[in-house]
Amino acid sequence: MQLTNRSKQVSNKEMTFSERMYLPAIAGGLRVTFSHMFKKSATVQYPEQVREHSAVFRGQHVLKRDAEGRENCTACGLCAVACPAEAITIVAEERKKGEEHLYREEKYAAVYDINMLRCIFCGLCEEACPKDAIYLTDRIVTSNYERADFIFHKEDLVEAVALEGRIDITKRKKDK
Ligand code: SF4
Ligand code: SF4
Repeated sequence: MQLTNRSKQVSNKEMTFSERMYLPAIAGGLRVTFSHMFKKSATVQYPEQVREHSAVFRGQHVLKRDAEGRENCTACGLCAVACPAEAITIVAEERKKGEEHLYREEKYAAVYDINMLRCIFCGLCEEACPKDAIYLTDRIVTSNYERADFIFHKEDLVEAVALEGRIDITKRKKDK
């Protein structure tokens, strides 16, 4: 039974001299090469030229603060449980008296590490978070020579205290 009309009849006919010299195949290859010379180049001169990301691009994570500058994360661990790559490590601590201006709730993450070599940027941590604490941004995780430099610690992830240093993720929130 014939399933498609793309099948080719196999023949055992003797190859011609030019076929044995690969001349038709070389001509065909050159034709493809030359046809590409007149097309617009698909490459960009990175890093001088940076291609715009789509709104749903998922890059390096950020741990958000609330409007008063307190960390949103309560170290519930849901993001770590949701992470299919087991890239997140959290150690929880209890908020002490006088630390109310630092952490929004009684529990906070004393350690929050993400192993960027394991992360597949699926965004499930962002989906799982009940506290609006973790978001993936449009920042590219920078390349490095040492594996240890790909373990991002809390200080690399938690955003700036000053409002002007914060990362705007409103579009990402709106698109959710
Ligand atoms: S983006 Fe996915 S793989 Fe990366 S830390 Fe979040 S849940 Fe894990
Ligand atoms: S980032 Fe969100 S889900 Fe993860 S531990 Fe903090 S509050 Fe829980």
